Amino acid sequence: MFIALLLAEGLIRYMKQYFDYVLITMGYAFALVIMFAFGEDINGLYMSLDIPIIVSLFYFSKKRLWFSMLLTLESYFVLLCFIDSLKDQVNLYDLITVTGMISGSGVIGFAILKRGNELQQSLERAVSSEMDAFVDSIATQNASKYDHLTNLYNHITYQEYLTALTRQHDAYAMPLQLAALDIDNFKSINDRFGHHVGDIVLQETALLLKSSISSEDVAARYGGEEFVLLLTGKTIKQSHELLERIRERLAMTVFPELDHESVTISIGMAEYTTELGKETLFKLADGYLYEAKRAGKNQVVSPIRRRDESAAEITQCS
Ligand code: GH3
Ligand code: MG
Ligand code: MG
Repeated sequence: MFIALLLAEGLIRYMKQYFDYVLITMGYAFALVIMFAFGEDINGLYMSLDIPIIVSLFYFSKKRLWFSMLLTLESYFVLLCFIDSLKDQVNLYDLITVTGMISGSGVIGFAILKRGNELQQSLERAVSSEMDAFVDSIATQNASKYDHLTNLYNHITYQEYLTALTRQHDAYAMPLQLAALDIDNFKSINDRFGHHVGDIVLQETALLLKSSISSEDVAARYGGEEFVLLLTGKTIKQSHELLERIRERLAMTVFPELDHESVTISIGMAEYTTELGKETLFKLADGYLYEAKRAGKNQVVSPIRRRDESAAEITQCS
């Protein structure tokens, strides 16, 4: 047995790919050792030859089961030829019974494999349908959360964020501003270059917005060529400067699809206070956006800009 173990250890180390066959053969070697050592004294010990068949079952492989069955039958007949006492123990009736039992073990083994394969297949089907359901749920979640053209948050998600962030302001006085953005003369872009070019402009503008804000801010497509930004944790002056940078970056972006022309955007921004409420907040920002359009487009209007203008007027009058 010790020699068989050493042999097995060596074979497993150098022939890793045949690990299971080595294991089955070791089962066979053990059965042989048991037979040679005690077979003469203990009647019926040749049933230990079933060991390789049992070992082969662990691999759920028909090929390995055939291998172990043939090995077992072959070894039984070899033993019969070499061990005289075994020959004495076994009569024709025993021979038929033992051959039948070894074959029977094999048949039971094949039945176990068949059932195992069925179980494995139904498990695989269950896992794959669970995966499909998971992928579907992610897709549905994405479809309901994001705008499909720009990949920004859609209107519904924007409303959810607005509610959550205004609540956060009410509880912790976290600074919050809302900016309404509208691409200038967008209809004429569609008319001159086609809708697909209009779509590219929307996508590029969305990318610019996303890359300009921080991870605490929210960018969403409000609808058409209108976007909203929810800016958090900044003073109104900082937010105004951020919006100016966005406006400038877009005005400086040249679109090859527009015969190398650029696009401009008008922006209105208002700051949230608990007394104002979120509906009035949007109306206020939209009002500032309207002022930006009336004043000639491509500009940011906010309470900061209003303050600066009033100060300039006072200076002029004096
Ligand atoms: P203003 O400077 O005053 O904002 O004028 P405008 O032309 O940008 O605004 P207007 O409201 O007159 O036109 C907006 C156009 O946007 C009309 C509509 O066909 C187009 N539009 C809305 N959604 C989409 C879209 O998903 N893709 C494209 N290509 N066009 C869109
Ligand atoms: Mg518009
Ligand atoms: Mg517009």
